[in-house]
Amino acid sequence: MSARADELAANLDTVRRRIATACADAGRDEGEVSLVVVTKFFPATDVRILADLGVTDVGENRHQEAEAKAAECADLGLRWHFIGGLQSNKAAAVAAYADVVESVDRAKLVGPLSRGAHGRGHDVDVLLQVSLDPPGADHRSGADPADLAALAARVEEAGMLRLRGLMAVAPLGEDPATAFARLAEVRAGFVDDHPDATVLSAGMSGDLEAAIGCGATHVRVGSAVLGARPAVQ
Ligand SMILES: *Cc1c(COP(=O)(O)O)cnc(C)c1O
Repeated sequence: MSARADELAANLDTVRRRIATACADAGRDEGEVSLVVVTKFFPATDVRILADLGVTDVGENRHQEAEAKAAECADLGLRWHFIGGLQSNKAAAVAAYADVVESVDRAKLVGPLSRGAHGRGHDVDVLLQVSLDPPGADHRSGADPADLAALAARVEEAGMLRLRGLMAVAPLGEDPATAFARLAEVRAGFVDDHPDATVLSAGMSGDLEAAIGCGATHVRVGSAVLGARPAVQ
């Protein structure tokens, strides 16, 4: 193996152990939590190594980079998760390669995503991104929890989109466990209304344990696997 492959293998092992320990601590089965490795800013050669190491799901947050990498790695059979802020004029193009779009936070995205899925001839899984910011906070991305029901209805009405659950990012400046506890409540209400939408994508390199403790089914881990991202973005 190359030095990079050794490094990624060791990091992946550490992250998988962290997930296993967090599941044990939460009294959950390890099989309940899937790992999405966030490969943004890292080259397709790394994606290829990760696929060799058994990674099945990768996440990207910028359309152009994601589109190019997905094309370069089309032979690997990976599931591509789009996790970034989404412009409505790019949404159809994202649905042409993403298997899961995790960052759907407004109704305006639904039509273009559905068109993109139609064009591809393939269903696309959708997660609604919910904001965990306290009311009145300077808004980061994500739908207000109060708007989820209407947004979910739009996704369900649209063709070729499958509503699978929720995604969230813990806000800066708050204990992630507190934010994820709020998310667990929002999710409980959401699953009551949408019993098939049980996916909960939450937790990153720094807070995956807290997320697993609050019911995450998918963690999105970048730097703990790939190393620090370049400072210039
Ligand atoms: C970059 C990113 C991640 C991964 O973050 P790390 O801290 O590197 O693990 C997870 N989720 C989203 C939405 C991201 O943009």
